[in-house]
Amino acid sequence: MRIIIMGPPGVGKGTEASMLEAQFNIPHVSTGDIFRALFRTDDPIGIEAREYIDKGLLVPDELTNRIVETRFRTEDVHHGFIFDGYPRNVAQAEAFTKFLNERNWKVDTVINVDTKDETIIERLSGRRVCPKCGATYHIVSNKPRIENICDNDQTELIQRKDDKPETIKNRLEIYHRETKPVIEYYRKAGLLVNVDGSGDIENTHRQVLKIIGDLKW
Ligand SMILES: [Zn+2]
Repeated sequence: MRIIIMGPPGVGKGTEASMLEAQFNIPHVSTGDIFRALFRTDDPIGIEAREYIDKGLLVPDELTNRIVETRFRTEDVHHGFIFDGYPRNVAQAEAFTKFLNERNWKVDTVINVDTKDETIIERLSGRRVCPKCGATYHIVSNKPRIENICDNDQTELIQRKDDKPETIKNRLEIYHRETKPVIEYYRKAGLLVNVDGSGDIENTHRQVLKIIGDLKW
């Protein structure tokens, strides 16, 4: 089973991918993990990518594609994968299709977990974190015992910059701009399935299981 999971930041697609990984024993692959693993080695391709990142530049698509391909040096992904966070644009999607085609592999389905931007902003902007122990809370769904105080060490909770509404809006804008064409690309290929991510994790998971149950794999 070869799956790509798409969806805006904060929609819970990483959680969903991890649940699928545990349930079906298929590796959950994220570009973040691939990059981190590569940076722990002295592989020249990692050093090349690092140079861009250290300068605050985006890693070019062509290099990102080659880096993703390094993940296929390990056999665990040869029989199935759940890709999360890649491909991010049409150039990457085309390169990935070509790479898979050359090996007679194909993506079985592209699951697009989506919800309204307001829902995501509400979810993410409610997160609070303890600056001392790193514990995370949510002002609605995971409250500390005392408002805005860490249960573990009574430190006052803070809101990360990443979780501020302006930052989230900005990230969502970038996400939509980049990935709309990718969604369209997979829709045209007949691979796209939409999942409503506005409910809780279990709700999303039920919909995804239904999709997977309908696949022949
Ligand atoms: Zn704490």
